Amino acid sequence: MAPVSGVRRGLGAVLALLTCTAVLGGCSRVISGTPTTAGGPATHDVAGLPASNGPTGPIAGAPDADLPVEGTDGGEVDALARNAIADVQAYWREVFPDAFDGAEFEPVPRLVSYDSTALGGTLCEQRTQGLSNAFYCGGENLIAWDRADLLPRLNNSFGPIASVTVLAHEMGHAVQHRAGTTGRDAPTLVLEQQADCFTGSFFRHAAEGGAEHFQVSTGDGLNKVMGVLNYIRDTPGDTDFTGADAHGSAFDRVTAFQYGFSEGPQRCARMDAEDVKRRTTQFQFWKQAQETDLPVDEKNLAAVRSSLEQVFADTGALPPELTTEPLPCDGVRGTEPAAYCPETNTISLSLDDLQRIANPPAKEAADSGYGDFAAYAQVASRYALSVQEAAGLPLTGENAGLRTACLVGAWSGLLVEDPIGQRNPVGELRLAPGDIDEGVAALLGDDSLIAADVNGDQVPAGFARLEAFRMGFQDGFGPCSTEYGE
Ligand SMILES: [Zn+2]
Repeated sequence: MAPVSGVRRGLGAVLALLTCTAVLGGCSRVISGTPTTAGGPATHDVAGLPASNGPTGPIAGAPDADLPVEGTDGGEVDALARNAIADVQAYWREVFPDAFDGAEFEPVPRLVSYDSTALGGTLCEQRTQGLSNAFYCGGENLIAWDRADLLPRLNNSFGPIASVTVLAHEMGHAVQHRAGTTGRDAPTLVLEQQADCFTGSFFRHAAEGGAEHFQVSTGDGLNKVMGVLNYIRDTPGDTDFTGADAHGSAFDRVTAFQYGFSEGPQRCARMDAEDVKRRTTQFQFWKQAQETDLPVDEKNLAAVRSSLEQVFADTGALPPELTTEPLPCDGVRGTEPAAYCPETNTISLSLDDLQRIANPPAKEAADSGYGDFAAYAQVASRYALSVQEAAGLPLTGENAGLRTACLVGAWSGLLVEDPIGQRNPVGELRLAPGDIDEGVAALLGDDSLIAADVNGDQVPAGFARLEAFRMGFQDGFGPCSTEYGE
């Protein structure tokens, strides 16, 4: 995040657009008891499936797949990869004809395991030595993976479902190639997001119990899968996972994944440059912007509070006081690093804890955080509770947590230089490249307040938390109380 200097622009236009102003008051009462729209977000399910934590990973007792793998050392990493490919291919065999005009799915004929720490040879015109990657290449019609570094590292961090995620993404490129869903000159961003979308459609099948070797729960299981997508955006490598520019922001990636999970392969097939551009306009400035961190201190907290005041001015809610003193609060469990007390309309903050969250993500370091935006989003989430309190909405329960995520999304969406939907940016803080991705990482975590109610409880499904955040980000705070009404 960074402060901008210069004129405040177009606040009037913003106010005009947020016409359902008492949204959080009047509108919520009007819609009281109204169920969410069909196909829309819901707190208790994940795109129509029950939301729950549960077993994720290999299914015990499933017989190993019998697929030839070139170069294998016969070890566990390759056994996992082979089973993953078998499940993903079985899925595409089943759905490909329906999704793509009756055509049969042609399996990928060559599966290649290599060791990036060994001398090795070349694959798809790249040396495999030092290539910590997984990739599909159309020219040689193969899927290859690094069994020595990439897959073990991801499996260590996220569990064995990480290998399935990576290989389902690579198979997504094979599907793309076979179905001709994108032109040969399609931008990388489109190719990558479509592959993520195809990954999502496979994982729905797995979540429904349709895969032979793997299971995934819709709660913490999908959190891990989306965590992998978030993580591999910065995995070093030369071809596929080349970083944010190639794969899009993590926010784009999980959005594409969620589309595939919710709507299936036909939705993915419709992804083209126009579709991707419509959803990612708000990120265009990121390409030129300098990454600037806003250290957590009293001055910057005041600036964040001021931006929250401006974004939510229209709700008529009295802005809460911010304090760095711990305050006891009756009837509410204390939350860290920020706690909201409805009785006194006060947010008490722990600067130390916020600063730790604001540390850049340094993998495997003890002081690793999520980044500055993730820290400020925790503060914004407690502010969002004050807005709900003023509107007479409950501050506990699943809807309260998701409304909070939606309101934090709405605040974030108005700090972007070019917000989606022709809205004007608000205030003097701007998001820098990667800020929203920090928020995504935090939203998928177990300990974030961004989607938590006043007691710090959040719904188990990161999927639902992200949907709520995205709704606010894209559409402003209007839908937050209507979609997540009591
Ligand atoms: Zn890819």
